[in-house]
Amino acid sequence: MNNSTNISADWIRGLIHDFIATSSHNTMENETGEAAWDSALVGFVAGADPIWQQYKEYVGAFHWTPWEVFNQQRPEASASAEELTVISWVLPQRELVRKANRRTKKYPAEEWARIRVYGEKFNVALRQHVADSLAQAGHAAIAPMLVSNWTIVNSQRFSYASSWSERHAAHAAGLGTFGLCDGLITARGKAMRVGSVVAKVYIEPTPRPYADHRAYCLFFADGSCGKCIDRCPVRAIAENGHDKEKCRQHLVRSREYVKKTYKFEGYGCGLCQVGVPCEAGIPVKAAREALERGELPPPPPPLA
Ligand code: SF4
Ligand code: SF4
Repeated sequence: MNNSTNISADWIRGLIHDFIATSSHNTMENETGEAAWDSALVGFVAGADPIWQQYKEYVGAFHWTPWEVFNQQRPEASASAEELTVISWVLPQRELVRKANRRTKKYPAEEWARIRVYGEKFNVALRQHVADSLAQAGHAAIAPMLVSNWTIVNSQRFSYASSWSERHAAHAAGLGTFGLCDGLITARGKAMRVGSVVAKVYIEPTPRPYADHRAYCLFFADGSCGKCIDRCPVRAIAENGHDKEKCRQHLVRSREYVKKTYKFEGYGCGLCQVGVPCEAGIPVKAAREALERGELPPPPPPLA
């Protein structure tokens, strides 16, 4: 039996957009107090959607389904998969941040590094705000990234992965598909950050406007592009994919650079997310135009 309550998608969208517009957390913490974010894309996916089981097979058994993480954390509110909805959002990087990082060749621009630290601090506050607002309205909710047992796990296929992937939640919620560099290409591009909350509510799921989990990447669509390969300063991207360990080591090195150059404790890279055709939109023309026309493809095949 489904005991969750219907709530309006617009109420959630309003909650997220109001927080972006009014929260004191929305800052790059620079001298001018520039806002970290100015907009969000929001999508919804059912807790009972078969894609969660496919992630268990594709990402690893350690990747939580919404049902697993919700019932671990809120046993008193116990919910079936059918009673849960995952609310996912994308925070697109602002033009000034993308522009600054486009100019860099090895380490991140100050603006990008600030977003990695302070923009993500806002994203943490947003996760908490969405979960708390739902709880105040009488709906149990949790943010999987904020639970104490969220962890990074060694993975045979991906070197390492986590018990909840925000990018996979966003993909499930119709917000984007994966690129050669592993980033999620959304309607506002790949330069973005993502967040999510699992709630005991029913919200109409967002249709997934793609039949393939790589539909928006030019490399997988027609074999062209590969621009992210050239943007990576440590050759962590190749035609056979993304070397997470090389990427991680570069991020570790970036800490020293950020501290020395920008005088704060931060890190980042994201060079592969800017100066590329998928930086701020969907580069595959047919997919972009189909999305603009509101067309849906046939049901997607299982992830392979
Ligand atoms: S830069 Fe090109 S190859 Fe790389 S993810 Fe974007 S569209 Fe795909
Ligand atoms: S984040 Fe930086 S190091 Fe990692 S793949 Fe992208 S460009 Fe390379």
